[in-house]
Formats: sequence, structure tokens, C-alpha cells
Amino acid sequence: MKKEENRKLTAAELPAGGLVEAGTAANFHTGSWRSEKPVWNKDKCISCLTCWISCPDSAILTAQDEKKGTVVSGIDYDFCKGCGICVRECPPKVQALTMEQEKK
Ligand code: SF4
Ligand code: SF4
Repeated sequence: MKKEENRKLTAAELPAGGLVEAGTAANFHTGSWRSEKPVWNKDKCISCLTCWISCPDSAILTAQDEKKGTVVSGIDYDFCKGCGICVRECPPKVQALTMEQEKK
């Protein structure tokens, strides 16, 4: 390696660190981090939307129902990182979400 390549960069030459382009969250599939996953039971779900409000990754999917309005329709596993917040927040009397070990 040449002597010039070993030279330390000056502050002015350093690239800006820790900054990512805005609006790119859809490109990062956080589901690859997961070791456990929430499993949604459609038959138990009362569509209170508590899980949808609570999910930090907007991974709870919704749909429009003619009679009920906005309802939960599933989990987007591309973005669910398995934090378990939705399972914890689902009303204890309902328990429409359970955590399961991710199969590798
Ligand atoms: S919190 Fe539970 S009952 Fe409420 S919408 Fe989510 S899965 Fe359904
Ligand atoms: S486990 Fe976490 S990231 Fe996945 S759907 Fe539930 S709240 Fe969202």
C-alpha cells in the first residue's frame, strides 16, 4: 500500500456519518432480524386496532370491511421485527395474537 493511502483523513475530508436518506424505511426489511413472530388468530380478533396503534414498524395490516370499517387483516412479516408489543397489547380477554418461535 502506498504511503498516501495510509494518510489519515482530515475532518473536512471525512464523509458525513450516521445520516441516511429520508423516506427509505420501505427498503429495510426488518423482518430478517426476527427470532420470534406474532401469529394472528382471525377468529379471535375483535379488530380493536390496539395492535395496529402499538406496532413501531407499521407491520399490522388493515383492510376495509363494509360493516365493521377498518379491521386487522394480518401481519406484514417483511417488516415485523418480532418485538412482541402487539401480543402484549392485545386485550388479555381476547388474546388474538400469540408469539411463536421463528422457524429457520
Ligand atoms: S389487539 Fe388483538 S383483538 Fe385488537 S385488533 Fe389487534 S389482534 Fe385484534
Ligand atoms: S411483533 Fe412488534 S413489529 Fe411485529 S407486528 Fe408486533 S408490534 Fe409490530
